[in-house]
Parts: sequence; C-alpha cells; structure tokens
Amino acid sequence: MAYVALPAATRASRLAVARSRWDAILHVRPDLEPAITLQRTLIEPVVDLSETLVQGRLPRLSLPARYLAAKLGKHVPALAAEPIPIPTPLLKPTLLMLCEHLAIGGGGDPVRHICAAVNAGTLEAGAVFAATLSRDQKAIVIGSRHRGLQSELVWLVAELTVSPFVYGLQQLILGRNAGRLDATLQAALEGWKQGYCPICGSWPTLIEALGGKSVLRCSFCAYAWTLDEPGCVYCGDVGPTFVTRAPDPSRPDRRLETCGKCRSYVKAIDVDDLSPFPLGAIADLETMDLDVMTMKQGFQRPALKAFSTAKVV
Ligand SMILES: [Zn+2]
Ligand SMILES: [Zn+2]
Repeated sequence: MAYVALPAATRASRLAVARSRWDAILHVRPDLEPAITLQRTLIEPVVDLSETLVQGRLPRLSLPARYLAAKLGKHVPALAAEPIPIPTPLLKPTLLMLCEHLAIGGGGDPVRHICAAVNAGTLEAGAVFAATLSRDQKAIVIGSRHRGLQSELVWLVAELTVSPFVYGLQQLILGRNAGRLDATLQAALEGWKQGYCPICGSWPTLIEALGGKSVLRCSFCAYAWTLDEPGCVYCGDVGPTFVTRAPDPSRPDRRLETCGKCRSYVKAIDVDDLSPFPLGAIADLETMDLDVMTMKQGFQRPALKAFSTAKVV
C-alpha cells in the first residue's frame, strides 16, 4: 500500500492544528519564538490561498488516469512536463504578501528587492510560478542572478506561493474533489517505489511514522506515500552505511536516516496524525536541530530531481 489518504481539513482545522503545534514547540523551545512568529506569517497566507483555490479556482486537468498511470509506470511524476495553466493573478498577491512578511521577519532588503522586481514587472511572476511548478530550480537561479536577486529567496517565496496550487492539483489527481480515485491510477500509485513524489517529483520534507508505517511527506504538494522496502529514500541503498538512529536516546520519536552511499539524510518523527497541508513545515522547523547536527557530519538534502521532456511518455 503506497498511497496514504490525507485526512480532510479546512482552513479553520489547519490553523487550529498549526496553533497547537506552535504552542507545544514554544513550551519546550522558547528560543524558537522568532522563527515561529515568522513561520506563522508565512503559513497563514498559504492556508488562505489554498482555501480560495479549492473553492473552484483550480484549472480543469486534461490528464486521463490511464495516461498518468503509464507515466508513473515509467517512474515519471504525474505533473512532470505538463503544460498546466497557472492562475497567476490569483497567486501574485500572495507572493507579494509573503515577500513583505519575510522582509519584516528578517529577510530585509534582499526580499524587498524581489517584491520591487515583481511589482515593476522585471521579474515576471507567471514565469517564476511556471519554473517553480516544473521544479526548474536552474531557471530560477539563472533568472534571479540576471536581475541581481538572491535565488534562494526567490525560490522560497515562489515555492510557498505555488504550494497550495500544487496541493490542489494533487487533490484533483487523486479524485478528492470528485470523491473517487480511478482504479488504474490507484494501482499505479500503489506500485510507486521511488523516494520522490509521484505527483510533483519533489523529495520528502520528512517521514511521519504513524502506527508503525513510515509515511513520506512531499515537501511541495504534501502527498503522503510509503515504500515497501527499507533503505535510503534517495538511492535505495540498504548497505551497512545506511543507518537509522535517534541522536538523543531520550527522544526515540525523533530519528535520522543517513546514507553513507549518497551522503544524504531524511528525518523521521513519530506522529499521532499525518500533518495536513501545509503543516509539514512546522515539523520541519521543530526538528531543525537534527538538520544542523547531520549537516555538520557531511550529510545533505539532495537537489531536486530533473525530469526532462525526453523521459515523458
Ligand atoms: Zn509532491
Ligand atoms: Zn542514499
């Protein structure tokens, strides 16, 4: 069983869960208050945009289930290289709002420059969204450098802005809105054995361990899936240098999977419920100490996988 359905969530329920998680983190890590304050101002506009999009603002997808199942059979994510119309006028105000919040929250002038470039039209929001949706980090790096902008910041705000859209597409593909998932497509999703997301191609933010199952959570569209075989999420290695451990023996619920072969890592945490979109970011923030520790040991989160049109059906 590779495909795990997310529980239904509304704007109010997402924000309620977010608030209780932030409170719980602050209780044990008061030093994270500035980071949480910033995250709150970034997550709320994303939740709002997600709500607007699901209320009928998503495009009609002409991606037949059999076609998608064939793509997945070739290890190509459903959305890779698809010309999806992006509702740029709807997304652009969120991008500008996120830039503003990020600038106030510590991003400063480098973020204000992005805002100014988008407002002036020298950085075209639609092109940035399209590159983000197609996971084309290289296009963002080149486009940002040409304009004297910090590409990591452009990527951050663009990814946050497009994430509710790609989450909406993920839900459309899964037939969530129509209330059913095509049997052929479901079988293809259940047969998915890759560590990158079968919908959008991104790597997981982390693993949520729920009732003994390791559920990978996509860092972009929040898709939830499991892998049948143990091993490195990124390269599949199961050799002796692939290690799962809890760095703090008193917190066995927070673990790291490190791979000596590809030098990559993923965090795994025990949860009572899967995080609704977009709250995987909160668990990611709560476990940031694990990232710091692991990166010091020379492990990394790998770059996004590139899916060229040549690989597509
Ligand atoms: Zn995804
Ligand atoms: Zn590996």
